[in-house]
Amino acid sequence: MKKQYLNLLALTSLLLTTSPLLAQRTLLHCGNLFTGTGNDLQPQMTVVVEGNKITAVQKGYQSPSGQDRVVDLKNKTVLPGLIDMHVHLESQTRRGGQIDAFTQNVPDVAFQAASYAKTTLLAGFTTVRDLGGSGINIALRNAVNRGLVEGPRIFTVGKSIATTGGHADPTNGYRRDLMGDPGPAEGVINSPEDARKAVRQRYKEGADLIKITATGGVLSNAKDGSGPQFTPEEVKAVVDAAKDYGFVVAAHAHGAEGMKRAIRAGVQTIEHGTYMDDEAIELFKKYGTYYVPTIIAGKTVADSARMFGYYPALVTPKALAIGPKIQATFGKAYKAGVKIAFGTDAGVYIHGYNAKEFEYMVEAGMPPVEAIKSALLNNARLLGMDAQIGSIETGKLADIIAVDENPVQNIKTLQAVRFVMKDGKVYKQ
Ligand SMILES: [Zn+2]
Repeated sequence: MKKQYLNLLALTSLLLTTSPLLAQRTLLHCGNLFTGTGNDLQPQMTVVVEGNKITAVQKGYQSPSGQDRVVDLKNKTVLPGLIDMHVHLESQTRRGGQIDAFTQNVPDVAFQAASYAKTTLLAGFTTVRDLGGSGINIALRNAVNRGLVEGPRIFTVGKSIATTGGHADPTNGYRRDLMGDPGPAEGVINSPEDARKAVRQRYKEGADLIKITATGGVLSNAKDGSGPQFTPEEVKAVVDAAKDYGFVVAAHAHGAEGMKRAIRAGVQTIEHGTYMDDEAIELFKKYGTYYVPTIIAGKTVADSARMFGYYPALVTPKALAIGPKIQATFGKAYKAGVKIAFGTDAGVYIHGYNAKEFEYMVEAGMPPVEAIKSALLNNARLLGMDAQIGSIETGKLADIIAVDENPVQNIKTLQAVRFVMKDGKVYKQ
């Protein structure tokens, strides 16, 4: 009986390895190839894809044999799929959009999230970190993984963790009788004990990492956009509880004090970082904390705030004050040697324009090749995925994109991605 079983296993594996479907290879003929491992582009290369993996990277244009399929990218530059460390796939900015909390049902949010996910993928972002929604982002991740929805590979926090009245308190700005008193289950904490419960709730719901809103924020319907909103003990409790479950923590922070508390507590990334001062810069370097700039979000909220009635009255002055500062902060942080992780806050601007961030990073003084690399292996490492994604190398997942021009010479070319392959499947050609 046992022997028969082993024979069956052997037969099955033989069938699997020789089945015509799996044996079919896709040969990508790349005019220029940026593998993401170095700084150079290699001309006339072939990337071989079998199933969902890259099985070879070879010089010259390899000729197809048997059932091989060739994708002609001879007049393109081919790169690894891009990784955005800060998106919100459940929502998208629009004038008066704060009413959506009262008018949208769960399925409404789910359908629009599916659409934004597809837009993001087609823009060349094959992996994203979703830093906060209602929890539908967890269902979206699962649907993408099951092949039900076309979207990037998603790592999600589910619901962000805030304090009462803080940025990401889900009932901020509501009428008193609708406010209620959300607690740890809804992502609102007011003590280290609450912090532990909120982290455990995220674990229970299936999040991949934890997000806290360490300071006030621009788009919450509240007066303050930058003051600290967690005590040092509360941040520490979040980070410690997160560690127990293998979670890293991302911290939204505009003001310096909240930022410093979060860095000292051991968060992995600081998002936005607007009022970063010299002491904060030193802390970033001392703790090895990464900075996720989201310049495009800052510029967009400032532009939108100039349109009458776009945001609630409390939000407009914050958007005008905080938004335009992020690019200069980024330039200063980069020059000071703070480690940068590409991330954009998509949803705060229209989904699909993520690559505009590269242009802003270059404008602020980062060399194009560094900007591009900040969205590749660097981010893959922060996601614990550097063995699978972030570069074009044999054995890695086939997440591959192509653009018309050499992005090192023209960074804007990344804003018009012509070819997208994720997990070996072509989504755009
Ligand atoms: Zn955000």
